[in-house]
Amino acid sequence: MSARPIVRFAPSPTGFIHIGNARTALINWLYALRGGGRFILRFDDTDAERSQREYAEAIEVDLAWLGIVPDAVRRQSERVALYDAATAALEQAGRLYPAYETPEELDRRRKRQQALGRPPIYDRAALRLSATERAELEAQGRKPHWRFRLEPTIVQWDDLARGPSRIDCASLSDPVLRREDGSYLYTLPSVVDDVDLEVSHVIRGDDHVTNTAVQIQLFEALGRTPPAFGHHNLLTDASGEGLSKRSGALSIHSLRESGVESLAVAALAVLIGSAEAVRPVSSLAELAEAFDLSHVSRGAAHFDEAELRALSARVLHHLPFAAVSERMKALGIEGALAESFWMATRGNLERLVDAQDWWRVTQGAITPIVEDRAFLAAATACLPPEPWDAKTWGAWTTQVKAATGRKGRDLYHPLRLALTGRESGPELAALLPLIGRVRALDRLAAPAA
Ligand code: GLU
Repeated sequence: MSARPIVRFAPSPTGFIHIGNARTALINWLYALRGGGRFILRFDDTDAERSQREYAEAIEVDLAWLGIVPDAVRRQSERVALYDAATAALEQAGRLYPAYETPEELDRRRKRQQALGRPPIYDRAALRLSATERAELEAQGRKPHWRFRLEPTIVQWDDLARGPSRIDCASLSDPVLRREDGSYLYTLPSVVDDVDLEVSHVIRGDDHVTNTAVQIQLFEALGRTPPAFGHHNLLTDASGEGLSKRSGALSIHSLRESGVESLAVAALAVLIGSAEAVRPVSSLAELAEAFDLSHVSRGAAHFDEAELRALSARVLHHLPFAAVSERMKALGIEGALAESFWMATRGNLERLVDAQDWWRVTQGAITPIVEDRAFLAAATACLPPEPWDAKTWGAWTTQVKAATGRKGRDLYHPLRLALTGRESGPELAALLPLIGRVRALDRLAAPAA
């Protein structure tokens, strides 16, 4: 095992990834980031019918948006020769056996077991078939599926998230590794790939805890040392429902379209259901420092979209200009004033696109709201010459106050209405120099509505 971790995120490309999948991807990414390791994106696409290239591409786009750039991308559909070799090795070691039961037969047996109050574990009838019986079944045209013979041992590991863990494999059915048509189920290819790609830490949702016991036996049957395992809790939606890739609920794609910040998605996806308080971060590196897999709680974590929107706004309020300059350009916000504009307005934004409105207020045309022409005329007379800076607003309004006798809201609010055409917004001390004298004069001279 290398000192620098090698982790992988292994989605099946059968739909868009949702916030729960992103949680797994991010936790792996942060783990690699923190340990100076590598992150592999592995597409579990052995199910040819349900897997789609478009989904794989969409997953890469979603990961990139989250800030995850894999060091390598692998597709299981291109690695079948490796799985065939492992299958042969397992068969030779006497750990793989053909079974001929149809799904209906298995179902009937399970029901019988349940009726007798027994756990529905596969009874290994296929193991007891003689060579002649097998030949007869084959002569009837039956094709076998292939099961891994589990050792009836207690498998133990020190889980990175859950601590010491153990599963009694005597209470599990021998898992099917290969279907009748020769295609592979998830269990074996995952192990073969983890060996081949030298994965050192398998970090995934706690729905895989039982798989881990089986897979540890597989690593050992293949003569390999198992990697370290960590199982994080799963996310549910605010009402406690599990998330599904197929329903499209809370997909990363739709969250991106809704205009939330990727850093907010990352911070919430990772910190929710951990001992750390959910808070805005300004980079994934910062998040990597804050997150500790061993602090993840065991219960399901509820994901609340309203909480995400609020967090997204808080993320924006702290972002430096450099972090947004490219996206601002795409919104048409650029030039000498762009940075001071950002610093003046970021604290008022809920979504980045809302900056466009304030750009119009400071650089474009607005409809001033004029309630008291005489007051605005008096204020105009006091307007100092340029250059203007952050002190201009204070100096000007002191003079307007002296000239008109107004103070507080009576003094400030009509000026805001005229200068911005908005009831509220960023501090005028910061906006005024951006609006500039020409525009200010024009707006203060606007006719009453
Ligand atoms: N394709 C599996 C899943 O999405 C991967 C599980 C694993 O990480 O091993 O659940």
